[in-house]
Amino acid sequence: MSFLQGPQFQAFLRDVFQLTVWLAILSAIFVPLERLFAAHPRRIFRREFGVDLCYYFLNSLLTAFLISVPLSLAAWLTRRTLPPGFLETMAGLPVWARASAAMIVGEVGYYWAHRLSHEIPFLWKFHAIHHSAEDVDFLTNTRAHPIDMVIDRFSMFVPIYVLGLGGPVGASGTLVPVLVGLFGTIWGFFIHANIRWRLGPLEWLISSPAFHHWHHTKSGPIDKNFSTMLPWMDWVFGSFYLPDHFPKDYGVRGNGVPHTLLDQLLYPLEGDGPAAAPVRVKPADEAVEPSGATSTLGQPAVVAEPAA
Ligand SMILES: [Zn+2]
Ligand SMILES: [Zn+2]
Repeated sequence: MSFLQGPQFQAFLRDVFQLTVWLAILSAIFVPLERLFAAHPRRIFRREFGVDLCYYFLNSLLTAFLISVPLSLAAWLTRRTLPPGFLETMAGLPVWARASAAMIVGEVGYYWAHRLSHEIPFLWKFHAIHHSAEDVDFLTNTRAHPIDMVIDRFSMFVPIYVLGLGGPVGASGTLVPVLVGLFGTIWGFFIHANIRWRLGPLEWLISSPAFHHWHHTKSGPIDKNFSTMLPWMDWVFGSFYLPDHFPKDYGVRGNGVPHTLLDQLLYPLEGDGPAAAPVRVKPADEAVEPSGATSTLGQPAVVAEPAA
């Protein structure tokens, strides 16, 4: 039996088909909204649309595979090291309590891994692929180097398992991580969308497109808004920034990040040289915000700290 007739190839084709259906559903939701409520005028087939489409399939297929071994190891270590009865106690909590706690501890893990990806030059070269998007829309959500994607997922799920919120006790052992992962993925498409909706006072509670678009700014204050779902965590850790308008441009300074998929995948592994990490903005270079720009929490617009 050739590989093309084998069960693994059949499973691969089934996964590709399911992802295509999901993409059609996401497009049916976000493309009309991005036409009707655009934050910036933008074509559907904008710059590097094809590259981001490849990332959609590549990361969806690869990340689950790459993350499965380290996550299984983390879950096994948790079972071996946590005090007897602890997992049973946590499993006895209502699903809403476990899901809420998982969202918070998962976000803490993600926040710091994400922040370190900005501050440690080696990690930044992987993460810079995501930030190199100059036309941010819903599809930008999956634009990431697979290693960066694995770091994000790992940092989010390990605290959930370590605190016994991810099972594997009982039939619903994996329900909470699945719920958190699903909600985070869907919300990730929303916060990248080119939609000018604002959520009013809820914007400090749950992330919005404006909140995350400021994370992608090229000329505004950089290294802000690291949370993916809970903006108040940025407020707690001093990186919250949300004026009443959208950033005027997106991307990274410098010409470090290449534009083709293969070059981007190899780029973080190339070391320093002509393709060194994109320029990190020094405070003196920061674009000056319009006077009086404040966050929705009433804090003055903050100038970014220098990146490490
Ligand atoms: Zn980032
Ligand atoms: Zn993003």
